[in-house]
Amino acid sequence: MLNKKSVDDINVKGQKVLVRCDFNVPLKEGKITDENRLVAALPTIKKLVADGGRIILCSHLGKPKGEPKPELSLAPVAVRLSELLGQEVKFVPSAVVVDDSVKAAVEAMNDGEIVLLENTRYRIEETKNGEAFSKELASLCDVFVNDAFGTAHRAHCSNVGVTEFVDTCAVGYLMQKEIDFLGNAVNNPERPFVAILGGAKVADKLNVIANLLEKCDTLIIGGGMAYTFLKAKGYEVGTSLVDDEKIDYCKEMIAKAEALGKNLYLPVDTTIAKDFPSPIDAEIEVSVVPSNEIPADMMGLDIGTETAAKFAEAVKTAKTVVWNGPMGVFENPILAKGTISVAQALAETDATTIIGGGDSAAAVNQLGFGDKMSHISTGGGASLEFLEGKELPGVAAADDK
Ligand code: ATP
Repeated sequence: MLNKKSVDDINVKGQKVLVRCDFNVPLKEGKITDENRLVAALPTIKKLVADGGRIILCSHLGKPKGEPKPELSLAPVAVRLSELLGQEVKFVPSAVVVDDSVKAAVEAMNDGEIVLLENTRYRIEETKNGEAFSKELASLCDVFVNDAFGTAHRAHCSNVGVTEFVDTCAVGYLMQKEIDFLGNAVNNPERPFVAILGGAKVADKLNVIANLLEKCDTLIIGGGMAYTFLKAKGYEVGTSLVDDEKIDYCKEMIAKAEALGKNLYLPVDTTIAKDFPSPIDAEIEVSVVPSNEIPADMMGLDIGTETAAKFAEAVKTAKTVVWNGPMGVFENPILAKGTISVAQALAETDATTIIGGGDSAAAVNQLGFGDKMSHISTGGGASLEFLEGKELPGVAAADDK
């Protein structure tokens, strides 16, 4: 269990509470296209409102790189949050996030009211954890609550720097839930524990592979990263995505799995095509071949049917499953079959199922399996760093219990 002060441990009645949320939602022409992160933030906000706090919400959105960019304003978030909460969330826009008008608006708040600050990354200091901006944010509040799991792997002003200048710093319910689910899965899993990794490159997940191999019973590797492993086994992988520099690393991991007595499953068959689809959703001709028979001029773009069945079987016997990264180029319907079958297997099991954010979370939600999972992380990068066994600065910065 997370040993950090939480919103249940603090008294916020009449206090100004700065809440760092993760409102980094996808926007298309000013419309929010996926509001999962807003919904995930509601329990903490509702609790603090019910306790009579004066709630000052803040978040980043996209990468404005230290400049006010109107298309990355949090204005649409204030509108949608007001609807979701059934209560006004007053947007207090400022090109510099904190200024005299924002301070005046905060001073004028009554208990239970909510304001939302502008995108914290409008300030160049935010991602550099600059002291001046941290102090400005701290000057607005009496208490700080961090509920932004999605940025917990970064030390920025609005999640880490600010804690140096506020006496009481707690974590919110979302942060607690994320750490409890991921922490239990990795450190205290009900076994068998099956970890499934996919996505593009081995290089992005070196430490995750090594750490999970130690913790799990079965490690399944699919997606683009599988081909470096297959090449490490001496197979011809054609023109598939390969990190040549990581072949030795993959050999080490194969040996490590054997030494630890762990199952390491790689694709036994592969869906291949002549070229990478262009555009990404182009209708392409594919075939399925055994993984050790990929022709030299062909590219592996998804796991094959036999592999999909084998992976699904492994999921069926598991009591805990953690999944990060698609099994193939799932953006193309013809190459999404492997990812869909893994998602389906997770949806059908009674095991604890945890999706590690990013593309796999998007895939699960798009397929309509979202409510069948025990937990879908709101943070891709943060969940990966957690799975690597790293301490997250955004969590470490909160007060201990
Ligand atoms: P995030 O970091 O957002 O959590 P992720 O970990 O889920 O993402 P990435 O490492 O970003 O996954 O990789 C996802 C990308 O990998 C997808 O765009 C997918 O098309 C691509 N991909 C999957 N399989 C292959 C393959 N066989 N060849 C090339 N690209 C692939």
